Amino acid sequence: MPVYTPPLRDIRFVLFELLDAASEFSQLPPHPDLDEDTVSQVLDEGGKFASEVLYPLNPVGDREGCQFDPATGNVTAPAGFRDAYQQFVAAGWPSLACDPAFGGQGLPMALNNALYEMLNSANQAWTMYPGLSHGAYECLHAHGTPQQKAQYLPKLVSGEWTGTMCLTEPHCGTDLGLLKTRAVPQADGSYRITGAKIFISAGEHDLSANIVHLVLARLPGAPEGTRGISLFVVPKFLPQADGTPGERNAIRCGALEHKMGIHGNATCQMNLDDASGWLVGEPDRGLNAMFVMMNAARLGVGMQSLGLTEVAYQNAAAYARERLQGRSLGGAKAADRPADPIVVHPDVRRMLLTARAYAEGGRAFSSYLALMLDREHGHPDAAVRQEAADEVALLTPVAKAFLTDNAWIACSEALQVFGGHGYIAEWGMEQTLRDARINMIYEGTNTIQSLDLLARKVLADNGAKLRRFGAKVQAFAEAKAGDPRMAAFIAPLADLGDKLGKLTMEIGMKAQQDRDEAGAAAVPYLRVVGHWAFAYFFARIARVALDRAEGGDDFYKAKLAVARFYVERLLPETAMLIRQARSGAGSLMAMDETLF
Ligand SMILES: Cc1cc2nc3c(=O)[nH]c(=O)nc-3n(C[C@H](O)[C@H](O)[C@H](O)COP(=O)(O)OP(=O)(O)OC[C@H]3O[C@@H](n4cnc5c(N)ncnc54)[C@H](O)[C@@H]3O)c2cc1C
Repeated sequence: MPVYTPPLRDIRFVLFELLDAASEFSQLPPHPDLDEDTVSQVLDEGGKFASEVLYPLNPVGDREGCQFDPATGNVTAPAGFRDAYQQFVAAGWPSLACDPAFGGQGLPMALNNALYEMLNSANQAWTMYPGLSHGAYECLHAHGTPQQKAQYLPKLVSGEWTGTMCLTEPHCGTDLGLLKTRAVPQADGSYRITGAKIFISAGEHDLSANIVHLVLARLPGAPEGTRGISLFVVPKFLPQADGTPGERNAIRCGALEHKMGIHGNATCQMNLDDASGWLVGEPDRGLNAMFVMMNAARLGVGMQSLGLTEVAYQNAAAYARERLQGRSLGGAKAADRPADPIVVHPDVRRMLLTARAYAEGGRAFSSYLALMLDREHGHPDAAVRQEAADEVALLTPVAKAFLTDNAWIACSEALQVFGGHGYIAEWGMEQTLRDARINMIYEGTNTIQSLDLLARKVLADNGAKLRRFGAKVQAFAEAKAGDPRMAAFIAPLADLGDKLGKLTMEIGMKAQQDRDEAGAAAVPYLRVVGHWAFAYFFARIARVALDRAEGGDDFYKAKLAVARFYVERLLPETAMLIRQARSGAGSLMAMDETLF
């Protein structure tokens, strides 16, 4: 039977021992006195909801999927999903990190993020419904008119209504400049919107009373390409003066996609046929406004993968302790039993530790990023806000791509721990692997994240943001250099920092001559940056764990062991990645297109 125990102790360790979240929170209104006890209580409750309500629904959603009724265009989510959503709303979870001006609780993103790790471990497909709503909330909060905010935000905050993002069209995925959906202005200030969207997550379902679609479309005469795209809010039901859902709008689901994983989430083809919509933000600046939602969603996708990595690890570890096969190479470990548990075998340990290291590194990295988001949005000092915003911009594509690639590796290794039983549906591992695959694709494929990192976040400012984060890493390394117990962590961290600096300069120079050089280097480059950031957080984890591990505390001994494994077994991947990134575009571009 699949198992999931919310990793509350690990989350508290990261937030309060590693990242000193309490002092971060103390500088942020409206909850400067938020302490570990309060956060723990909230997370305990969230963990219970995830493990007791959502996790049992995970295989149900996978088996049943969503049902589409062509006669009505209605979509029914799998059994239990609606009820779980109502419980989620009744408990006030959607409002956790939202603005009190619109009914939110104003708690930090870092707390919301930790909640979402657990929800995603338990049931990624279900969690996408409230996850997308939060993105829609952030977008309207940043760019909506006062009237739009008053109309939509309280409903999104309470969770009564859910949200979507409608970008993709059949001929237009990565390249949004190709999009064709049209918006025609009306005398009353609204727009009539017509077009076809595909792959829209949570586009139609029976969980909420209304669905707030954020739709990209073109105004008449708009410039070609991405400079001519505007953003519109298009509700499923038009809100009435009293705030209740009124007339049905002409945005309807035409079909559901049949797909590899996340079966419990409705992936919809959406048809807009003169649907009523209202402009959000400025005309032709829709992508700019949508980026608020896309950036939030990118960290959100990283959290989906962190959740899956954790649950995959937990199941593989439980199985490895029980499954008896073969004897330990060093002599029987369980002589009273017919064979030893497979956890004695070095390679089974490698697989388990790989998954665990990617979970622990990912938790530290993403929690740090969430705290930077809290600083960016809530710190009273504008300079601190700007510095945090720069780090968020730099690290968001890494969170999206590195965590999702790692989850694919981790879930595959965890499945392998089960041998043939991993491939059989009963144990839930094959669902985890199938669910994990989409995270590398949507919200901008991981290739696009790596181009964003290298071209827009690093080369565009001559490496300024990277150097500022690097200065933090270096300051830590220098401060700990005198402790011989830290040498195993600090030396590889400093070495990789040097190599990354040189690699960045080399790619930057080559890319000035030939832009394909950036495209050829981007994917391995992002993985190098991801490993560098993880090496930094594992060194910090080791620093916190060392004294207590030496005192014999098992929790900290395990933290130290995982950090050592990471440095010795996973970090060396960077040597290969750097060689790949340096090898340039030549071998990729040499073959004529017609020969593919
Ligand atoms: C289950 C699911 C849910 C989704 N949910 C939503 C949603 O809620 N809302 C929404 O709007 N969309 C959604 N999407 C769409 C998703 O965001 C797109 O599939 C994704 O952005 C890629 O677009 P595409 O599929 O058209 O692939 P393409 O853009 O055709 O890309 C194909 C391949 O080419 C590569 N490529 C493309 N351009 C470049 C380039 N310039 N440089 C290098 N490589 C390039 C890509 O990385 C990819 O490997 C969803 C998709 C799925 C499958």
